[in-house]
Amino acid sequence: MENNQDYQVLLYYKFVPVEDPETFADEHLAFCQDLGLKGRILVAYEGINGTVSGPKEQTEKYMEEMHRDPRFADMMFKIDKHDGHAFKKMHVRPRPEIVSLKLDDAVSPLEKTANFLSPKEFNEAMKNENTVILDARNDYEYDLGHFRGAIRPDIETFRELPEWVRENKDKLKDKKVLTYCTGGIRCEKFSGWLMDEGIEDVNQLDGGIVTYGKDPEVQGELWDGKCYVFDERISVPINQNEHVVVGKDYFDGMPCERYVNCANPDCNKQIICSEENEHKYMRGCTHECRVSRDNLYVREHNLSQDEIQRRLDIIAEENHKQEA
Ligand SMILES: [Zn+2]
Repeated sequence: MENNQDYQVLLYYKFVPVEDPETFADEHLAFCQDLGLKGRILVAYEGINGTVSGPKEQTEKYMEEMHRDPRFADMMFKIDKHDGHAFKKMHVRPRPEIVSLKLDDAVSPLEKTANFLSPKEFNEAMKNENTVILDARNDYEYDLGHFRGAIRPDIETFRELPEWVRENKDKLKDKKVLTYCTGGIRCEKFSGWLMDEGIEDVNQLDGGIVTYGKDPEVQGELWDGKCYVFDERISVPINQNEHVVVGKDYFDGMPCERYVNCANPDCNKQIICSEENEHKYMRGCTHECRVSRDNLYVREHNLSQDEIQRRLDIIAEENHKQEA
């Protein structure tokens, strides 16, 4: 039996020309499967972007092999200990881009990207009054945790960010703009784009939030909440000394850091929700999702029609009370 304590999750990317992403993806998949890794890797002409999990020894072997390839010789791996795999399968996919920001006129980070700040430099810059901290992630990521004082662009997905920037340029001009994201990859593209939009003093957090949380000196200072990650862990801690909960329960607004997906498969929306409210609302984000014929919660718990109705009545009664 494998020792479950000895698993690692690797997070990494590298902007570097890859000549034939299709062939690379096929060969790389076989290589990862041989090693017994699981995860998700994107390959494009512009580079590689991946998260994989596996037994410690196998992940070490993977990093060693990758570093032997001149293209990835200096690729930085962010390493987290974990108690098992963080994925169910192994995918390596050729894609037009290794990070899809859908910026119509995105520059390649190989050509242009903003100044990199180390965790220490970023920490100091955050304390400066003339600084604007811009979260370069989706709203559901921000909602679970973010740097103290960071602007949450009023958008649902990162794809809407360019429009938001164009509408809010006044807030960013003449300021020291700091951008950050989970591992740093989104900022590499986004920060270059910001510079092309005429914002002069753009800076990005080198290695992203994950690296910031591991830095022995800053120890995640000024990070509130947890950091959303795109694997089965859902979130990881960042601030080593202080844990301020910023997440709020979707239903009652109480402090909460537990993400679930809406039980209606057609909706699948991610909501922050306590265990208690998951049962109460049958994991449905709306009435329609609760009564959906395909509601997964109802199936998992084998709820009878009577039981469903009983819970719906309780919700209706409460809503009625609130309105009164
Ligand atoms: Zn829903």
